[in-house]
Amino acid sequence: MGMQGKHLIDREAVLVLPGEKIYDCIIIGAGPGGLQAAIYLGRYNRKVLIIDRGGGRTSHARHIENLLTQKVISGSEIIRLGMEQAESFNVEIQKGLVTRVLKPGLFEVYAGEVKYLSRFVLVSSGGTENLPRIENLFKFFGTGIFTCIDCDGYRTTGKKLVVIGNSIKTVQVAFGMKDMYTADITLVLYTDKIPEAYKDELAEEGIPFVIGRPVKFIGGERLEALEMQDGKRIPCEVVLSHFGYKLNDGFLSGLNLKRDADNFKFVTSRDYEASLSGLYIVGPLAGDDQVVIAAGEGAMAAIDMKKRLFEMRA
Ligand SMILES: Cc1cc2nc3c(=O)[nH]c(=O)nc-3n(C[C@H](O)[C@H](O)[C@H](O)COP(=O)(O)OP(=O)(O)OC[C@H]3O[C@@H](n4cnc5c(N)ncnc54)[C@H](O)[C@@H]3O)c2cc1C
Repeated sequence: MGMQGKHLIDREAVLVLPGEKIYDCIIIGAGPGGLQAAIYLGRYNRKVLIIDRGGGRTSHARHIENLLTQKVISGSEIIRLGMEQAESFNVEIQKGLVTRVLKPGLFEVYAGEVKYLSRFVLVSSGGTENLPRIENLFKFFGTGIFTCIDCDGYRTTGKKLVVIGNSIKTVQVAFGMKDMYTADITLVLYTDKIPEAYKDELAEEGIPFVIGRPVKFIGGERLEALEMQDGKRIPCEVVLSHFGYKLNDGFLSGLNLKRDADNFKFVTSRDYEASLSGLYIVGPLAGDDQVVIAAGEGAMAAIDMKKRLFEMRA
């Protein structure tokens, strides 16, 4: 249908059809960053929509032990409680996959065929683990196989550990794990580019290393060994897999946002506003990769939005 005959509202240089709902903020991703921001904004009585596809990294964390006041809590419980709390302050939560964000005037957030409008957008879509293709990985993921030192390094204390990775940084990780957690470490590398200096240092530290491809994790209830392509088995109780993660950022590609010197994370202000005015980015896409940090970043972004909405008298 054409625009003629319709009553149009000119608001912030954008033509908005009457009846089209304008959110104060649309939050992409219901992880700790997005949910904490939603709770603040909901308590400012702002119109907030969270769009979340489900199954994020936090929901894979089985035992979170480093969150203030929570001796141990699962990631899925944090998400469940966070959603409940956000909804109690009238935040709307929709299941959906955001495919595109544009800003011709107001923000346009596309989920499937539906377009949503908002004054601000907060991106808290997190990352996706890079995991090696090794048989039985998911059987032990979160109990014997870990990916994050800050999250689960402690769980390797005093245990027989294998560190797997594909870069020189993995060698440094092995040294760090030895300093903090356990002396019994074997390093398995997918690369043969180890400088001589590292070989000497590994020998001095008593860390054996194996170059090659692991194919299978062996064990019943508990992890017992890592099997290599040549059939050799490396005994282990725990594994630290060091392959990093990718960002869930495909839907931002139309916005030409500034990234860091490695062309990886997004550059933001102190309040987590990206290089596009009104777009905030929190969690691993811009900052650090911990529940409490993502949540803190979400709170800071929400407080900044509150000030901006004051100024707009929206
Ligand atoms: C196995 C594991 C253990 C961990 N243990 C700990 C721990 O002990 N302590 C700790 O502090 N941290 C831990 N973490 C890290 C913690 O989960 C992250 O710091 C946290 O996830 C960051 O939160 P976030 O809000 O940025 O993103 P996430 O929790 O990743 O949430 C992002 C959400 O956005 C959704 N999403 C992504 N793309 C889209 C899209 N296009 N449209 C709609 N929705 C989308 C995802 O599905 C997900 O629901 C662990 C992570 C893992 C994987």
